[in-house]
Amino acid sequence: MDFSVDSSISSRLSDMHTFVHEQLIPLEPLLLSQQIDTLMPQLDDLRDAVRAQGWWAPNLPASLGGSWRDMVHLGLTSEVLGQTPLGHYVFGCQAPDAGNAELLHLHGNTKQQTEWLKPLAIGDIRSCFAMTEPDTAGSNPTLLACRAKLDGDHWVINGRKWFTTAADGAQLVIVMAVTDPDAAPHQRASMILLPADQSGYRIVRNIPVMGHAGAGYYSHSEVEFTDCRVPAENLLGGRGQGFALAQARLGPGRIQHCMRWLGIARRAIDEACRYTSKRQIRSDQMLSDQQTIRTWLAESEASLQAAKTLVLKTAWRLDHEPTKAVRPDISMIKFLTADVLQKVVDRCLQMHGALGVTDDRILAFFYREERAARIYDGPDEVHKQSLAKHMLAAHASSEHSG
Ligand SMILES: Cc1cc2nc3c(=O)[nH]c(=O)nc-3n(C[C@H](O)[C@H](O)[C@H](O)COP(=O)(O)OP(=O)(O)OC[C@H]3O[C@@H](n4cnc5c(N)ncnc54)[C@H](O)[C@@H]3O)c2cc1C
Repeated sequence: MDFSVDSSISSRLSDMHTFVHEQLIPLEPLLLSQQIDTLMPQLDDLRDAVRAQGWWAPNLPASLGGSWRDMVHLGLTSEVLGQTPLGHYVFGCQAPDAGNAELLHLHGNTKQQTEWLKPLAIGDIRSCFAMTEPDTAGSNPTLLACRAKLDGDHWVINGRKWFTTAADGAQLVIVMAVTDPDAAPHQRASMILLPADQSGYRIVRNIPVMGHAGAGYYSHSEVEFTDCRVPAENLLGGRGQGFALAQARLGPGRIQHCMRWLGIARRAIDEACRYTSKRQIRSDQMLSDQQTIRTWLAESEASLQAAKTLVLKTAWRLDHEPTKAVRPDISMIKFLTADVLQKVVDRCLQMHGALGVTDDRILAFFYREERAARIYDGPDEVHKQSLAKHMLAAHASSEHSG
């Protein structure tokens, strides 16, 4: 198993790192003090600079204008970009557009790809993914209540979703709705493409998350579908295949998320080293001289590197093996990395004292926005359960064959 990268990739990653630190991180104070919309013109210019460098959309193939190489490269790039909340957006690989573009690429028909994938891939439009509902448990999506019924040659969608990330300003909604209520539980739902200006669809509100409702790309909405009619041909993939498609979306998405989280942890550690080295706490001592601080820094670094090794190993396996064989590892890296992220950001924030909880530094943003890492993309507990189930089945079959 070898996840070393050749020198051209290391130098590319190093150039991206410089770009992130020189062009994007200096914009963070604006992100923290005002809504993202006011930053958009600057971000659009930076997106042009990224395209000119050949760095655009590392999750998509060149045929779609992307710079995909392999899963390990995607992971390492995501780690660099994760160091600022602006990274993935400026490089055209932000969630949920990245996963939605991958879905359309793999499962969309020619018409759907021309109409939606092309503009999404080049960053002309944004999209959102509406699956979770306020009234049913997101951890078990077979309970979904949102319905789509065929009426002639149209689907009629009724239901309510929430935590539809980036719905505010999105032109395309991919909605997961029950189309076949009498089928087996995992074959009841389908994905349907919905133009956001369709009548019957509306954003109810941007949901305040820890006090911040956000706006535009940086928001999570509650949305409603009331007798919302879309042509039958807007079905993505096959009827009843919604869960299968959602599973397939998770491989590259998980690597990208986990490495983004580790990029955040890296940034938090860097900020903590910087602050504690300069903060004098006695006439002859800096904060970084304290044993507790050193222990926190060392533990943070060790957990980050351990998690990174496991994520890169999983990325490497995804490059060489079918996704199904790697599924237990894809679950494992989710809860492991979300936990590392949480602990590292919390410790680094603590090391900053009161400054840590202000918007004068990026840590409070990470703390607020990334607490959800243990909840979205499947709650950690569900992933632990599915890993344990796999382990116990493997154990039982080895006992049986032994
Ligand atoms: C910031 C953010 C962004 C999101 N973006 C999107 C998006 O773009 N599109 C979308 O469709 N959804 C999105 N979600 C929703 C997310 O996928 C769900 O919140 C998640 O699947 C959990 O569903 P739930 O909130 O209904 O929790 P519930 O299903 O009600 O579960 C509550 C808690 O119970 C525990 N739990 C659940 N099941 C088990 C179990 N089997 N064993 C042990 N404990 C369990 C877990 O701790 C879980 O957190 C987002 C959520 C957040 C917070």
